[in-house]
This record gives sequence, structure tokens and C-alpha cells, in this order.
Amino acid sequence: MIQTVLDILSIRKDFPILNRKVNGYPLVYLDNAATSQTPQKVIDTIVDYYSRYNANIHRGVHTLSQEATDIYEQARQKIQKHFNAAKPQEIIFTSGTTHGINLVANGFASFLKNGDEIIVSALEHHSNIVPWQMLCERTGAVLKVIPMGLDGKLIMEEYHKLLSQRTKLVFCNHVSNALGTINPIEEIIEAAHKLGAAVLVDGAQAAPHLKADVQKLDVDFYVVSAHKMCGPTGVGMLYGKEEWLNKLPPYQGGGEMIAEVTFEKTTYADLPHKFEAGTPNICGGIAFGAALDYMNAIGFDAIAQYEHELLEYATKELLAIDGLKIYGELKEKTAVISFNIEGLHPYDIGSILDKLGVAVRTGHHCAQPIMDFYKIPGTVRASFSFYNTKEEVDILVASVKRAKSMLS
Ligand SMILES: *Cc1c(COP(=O)(O)O)cnc(C)c1O
Repeated sequence: MIQTVLDILSIRKDFPILNRKVNGYPLVYLDNAATSQTPQKVIDTIVDYYSRYNANIHRGVHTLSQEATDIYEQARQKIQKHFNAAKPQEIIFTSGTTHGINLVANGFASFLKNGDEIIVSALEHHSNIVPWQMLCERTGAVLKVIPMGLDGKLIMEEYHKLLSQRTKLVFCNHVSNALGTINPIEEIIEAAHKLGAAVLVDGAQAAPHLKADVQKLDVDFYVVSAHKMCGPTGVGMLYGKEEWLNKLPPYQGGGEMIAEVTFEKTTYADLPHKFEAGTPNICGGIAFGAALDYMNAIGFDAIAQYEHELLEYATKELLAIDGLKIYGELKEKTAVISFNIEGLHPYDIGSILDKLGVAVRTGHHCAQPIMDFYKIPGTVRASFSFYNTKEEVDILVASVKRAKSMLS
């Protein structure tokens, strides 16, 4: 039965924001796929940083700078351990998933030539489509798309047909933010590697729910954002295999990323600093480490099991509403439900839910091609986290029923 794997009531006490009211109702926060909430431990870490050891890193001889450097580098090691990267220098701090993708796309410009091919999946977030289009414009490479089926899954036979000697890079998300589909990235990576193509996986939606092992996956690049996994905004990581990161040119020039500078020539710093120009989000990186500690203390197996129970319960209760359709009803998915009610606009449903204190996302979820595929303007998306409860699912369902009766 639900609420046995995790002590939800005590977990909820860790998140001060969950106590607030919205429009006179207790907040029911179901927009976790857009950003997750922040536990007190992470908030305390941020306050502690600015209260006790705020300093610039990697260059000062003074105590504060050394403390900040040590703790920032410890956070890098926590991230390395969490994703099981072989070396800490394979972890590059970024400002988030979007930054990580652009860093790799920019670097590949120097490897690609006219006629080379990049494969992306049809299930992508906009931030995953635009950088590749820009890269193609710059290099003359061609973008190919793995199509999806009505069930919300990628059509893998088509992927295998798209692969060829021309394929240089494959890009896919681990979990779709619009539908929650868990993609078969093991198969995608293995097949691409047979042809010598590199693979970049967007783990932004996977990392809050499951623990990816980059060595086991044998993935070349993996990117995430901290703010979707209990950390702050404006920080994330790019994992890259050392040999790839050594080959890629730097993305931005500036301080931190240089070894020696003269007006004739600059030599770049070693990894990871080569990709970390300028003063980074020091506090954010440290808080990202604290967020991983927090989630690991709860345990990703327990999180996955509990969220799956919530998902099954919510799916069953929502489907009992007449005229409600769920997109991407799959066995292999994370706790995301994208739905519509016949004859009603998702935005109208979302607005009424907000009046009742229920936060959901409405619209195309930065994945317009998926909406075009289903020929819909958007969906209502309820995305769950381990701190949500069965009672909140009941409130969601009752509120959707109320919206339906008010709108029809
Ligand atoms: C949120 C998200 C992104 C973008 O993340 P940012 O933190 O905005 O850079 C990219 N891909 C997926 C799948 C996402 O869910």
C-alpha cells in the first residue's frame, strides 16, 4: 500500500514551501518536471555559504577562498560518485542542461563537415532541438529525427535505419519531459557506438527519479540541471568521457580556463577548468552536492517505488473521469501524466486548478513537435515527486472534476 516505503509526513516537513497556501487552499505542487522544491538542508547550505565562507575559488591564498574551493570540489566529487563517472575532471559544472547541450553542440562544430548527420529523437525538449539546428546551419550537417508512435515511444526500427557511416552524433533524452517516456538509451548508445558516433543524453528528467550510471551506460556525454532534483536554479553538470572532453575545444574564453596567456597564444587549463570560464556559481555547485546528499539519504530505489505507486493511483483515478485522455500511457515511464479533457482547453483547466491551489503545467511543455504530432495545442501536465501524497492526488482529481463541470 502507498506510503509504506517512505515516511512522507516527515519528508514533507523538510520542504518549508509545502506549508504555504495558494488562493486560500493548501498548495498542491504538481509541477515537479518544471522545477522541484528545495529541502531545508539545501536552503541551509546556501545560507551557510553566504554567511560563513563566501569567496572566489581556485585563486586565493586566504582561508575563505581555500574553504570555498575545497567544498566546491567536494561537491564535484559527490556528483562524480552519484553518476559513477570514472574521474572528477569528467564532471563540468554548467548553468544547467541547456548550457551543457550548447557546450557540446558548439564543440562539435569543429568536427563536422558538410553531409555529416546528427540524429535526434522526436521526443525532445526545445533546448535539445535548437542547438542542433544551429550546428547544422554552421557546418552543413543534416538533422535526422527518430520518429515516435502514438503510444509515446520512439520507433526503434526507424532509428536503426537512420544510422549510417555519416552519423556523427546522436542526441536523445533519457526521459521525456512532456510524456515521461523512459527511452531505451542503452540500445541507442550501443548502436551508435558500432558506427563510431558519439551520444549525448539529456538526463534532466531522469536524474530526479532514477540513478544513471554513466560508465555502465557507456554514454559519451550526460547533462542534468540541479533545480529539477532538489537543488537551486542556475547550476547543472555536463559529464563527458575524458577523451571527448580533451578533444572538444573550449566553449567560452575567460578566467579560470587558461593555463598561460600571452597576446600571441593562450594555452588552456586542464579539465575540468578548460570548460569553466569565469567565476562559477560556487554556492549553486555546493548546494547541488547537498541536494544529492539529501536525495541519496532517502534512496533512489524507495523514491522510484513510491513515485510509481503514486503514478498508478493517479492514472487510475484520472482515467475514471469521462472524456479524459492521457498521452503516452506506457509501462516504462516516470511519474508524469499529460492529459486533456475532450472539448476543453488545457489552459482553462490549469487556471481553475490554480484557483484551487493545485499547481500543474499547461501548454506544449517546450516540446511543440510532440503536440503537433498528437494534433493538440498542449496538455495539462501533472508531474509528481517523492514528497507528493495520495491525498494530493485525490485533491487533483476532485479539482479536475470541478474544472470540468465549471467549463462544460
Ligand atoms: C528542463 C529540461 C531541459 C532544460 O533544462 P534547463 O534547466 O532549463 O536548462 C532540457 N531537457 C529536458 C528533458 C528538460 O526537462
